[in-house]
Amino acid sequence: MKILDAHMHYNPDEPYFQEIAQAAGCQNTEEGLRQSFSAAGVIHGIVMGNRSLYPEDHRYPSCCSYCLGLDGRMLSQMNPKEALALAEENLRLDACVGLKLYPGYSPYYVSDPMYAPFYTLAERYGKPVAVHMGATAGSEGGLKYSHPLTLDEAASRFPKVSFVLCHLGNPWIVDAAAVMDKNPNVSADLSGFLEGKQDMDLYLAEKSGYLEHIRTWLQYLDSYDRLMYGTDWPLANEEDTIRLVQALIPEKYWEKVFYENARRIYPLKL
Ligand SMILES: [Zn+2]
Repeated sequence: MKILDAHMHYNPDEPYFQEIAQAAGCQNTEEGLRQSFSAAGVIHGIVMGNRSLYPEDHRYPSCCSYCLGLDGRMLSQMNPKEALALAEENLRLDACVGLKLYPGYSPYYVSDPMYAPFYTLAERYGKPVAVHMGATAGSEGGLKYSHPLTLDEAASRFPKVSFVLCHLGNPWIVDAAAVMDKNPNVSADLSGFLEGKQDMDLYLAEKSGYLEHIRTWLQYLDSYDRLMYGTDWPLANEEDTIRLVQALIPEKYWEKVFYENARRIYPLKL
């Protein structure tokens, strides 16, 4: 089975990432990334960028594409025209397959007017807007900004923009399912459910109620063509996350969820 990792990070120079990578059994280097990919059968990954808006700051290994991170705090400090022009410079590149917003980490709702020109731009380039949704790492963020219901307004106001509800809004799975059910332009990735290295036999046994809850709402939604495998690498490793997603998704949809959906939703030229 070919696999695309639709949600990962690549910050090999940051000591913080080195620490969390080790906890997950990953090596936070280009070589470590390539080893993780080849051991698990992952042929390509999509890096969620959180650097500047300058294209030259977004050089990643050839096995990766990227989404340009738009941090609301950074945008609010910039000249809007300049920020938009820089975003467009990225979107013109094949390697840039979308935009990424970080509500929760940044205190702005996705419906904030500041983002509207970027949605229109993403639509023009036929590339999605991925949105961090659900729990935030650490205690500094604001959860009201990352609740999946907040995506409903933007998704219905911009019906031709493809949005990706990252992490399926975990733990607000029911709300994420409601937003996806109402808005066919919203997809989701299944990254960020795991952290660190897991004993997956134990995890799958001990978390059976939680996993059943997720399966229940995925069954309710019944839109397996809008779900994508993703890890949040190097916070979680490929092997553990593959087992988790196989446990959540019926086998007849694995080809779509592990590969086809991401290739279509992020316009990947593979
Ligand atoms: Zn992430």
